[in-house]
Amino acid sequence: MIELRTHAEIEQMKPAGRFVADVLTRLLEVADVGVNLLELDALAHAMIRARGAQSCYIDYHPSFGAMPFGKVLCTSVNDAVLHGLPRDYTLQDGDLLSVDFAAAVDGWVSDSAVSVVVGTAAQQDLDLIDTASRALDAGIAAAQVGARVGDISAAIAAVAHADGLSINTDFGGHGVGRTMHGDPHVPNNGRPGRGYPLKPGLVIAIEPWFLQTTDVLYTDPDGWTLRSGDGSRGAHMEHTIAITDRGPLVLTAR
Ligand code: MG
Repeated sequence: MIELRTHAEIEQMKPAGRFVADVLTRLLEVADVGVNLLELDALAHAMIRARGAQSCYIDYHPSFGAMPFGKVLCTSVNDAVLHGLPRDYTLQDGDLLSVDFAAAVDGWVSDSAVSVVVGTAAQQDLDLIDTASRALDAGIAAAQVGARVGDISAAIAAVAHADGLSINTDFGGHGVGRTMHGDPHVPNNGRPGRGYPLKPGLVIAIEPWFLQTTDVLYTDPDGWTLRSGDGSRGAHMEHTIAITDRGPLVLTAR
């Protein structure tokens, strides 16, 4: 079911967006060569406690998961791109790190992700992050009242295809509200003018993610982390936005 939020409810969702943005900003300041993924998770957990927020991940236990997620961040490194379960791993020079974070404040969720390279960056990694970032911007720009979900999907896909990337549509954007995942699904590829009409008060996460030379994923033995089928690297950029009569409002802007 698709729920539309009133102007007052969107105002109530702003603190969650602010908090998620602030946590990611802090994590980007800290993430560096020599930092362990478990330290990043612990830092985010401390910020959750200090804010009185709720993690959307720690108790997350979908049917495909062997056990609850148990951490508050997704940290996906190099050939991992989504759902990376934080593990005892120290970041190395040139690692491509994607951090995905969702939390609730006052009962409202926001969800956002960002990719960076720590230490010395390979140009092709910077290019992949840049493509994902521009795809996110294009998707947000297409999120206008009167357009449809397919317009967002097509705008994302156009950026990826222009850079020669293929797209996996198994995982994409989604409605956000009292819970992390709601309708509608917002795929990273689709046809303009198709799908659910974008109405004022629709709040969605838009989240392009791409791999350098494949669109095939496999699940790591940890049961969560999704890795590229060919070992190439991935990037993932995500914001939660509200569709309004005055255009898209990015709730998780950093
Ligand atoms: Mg997310």
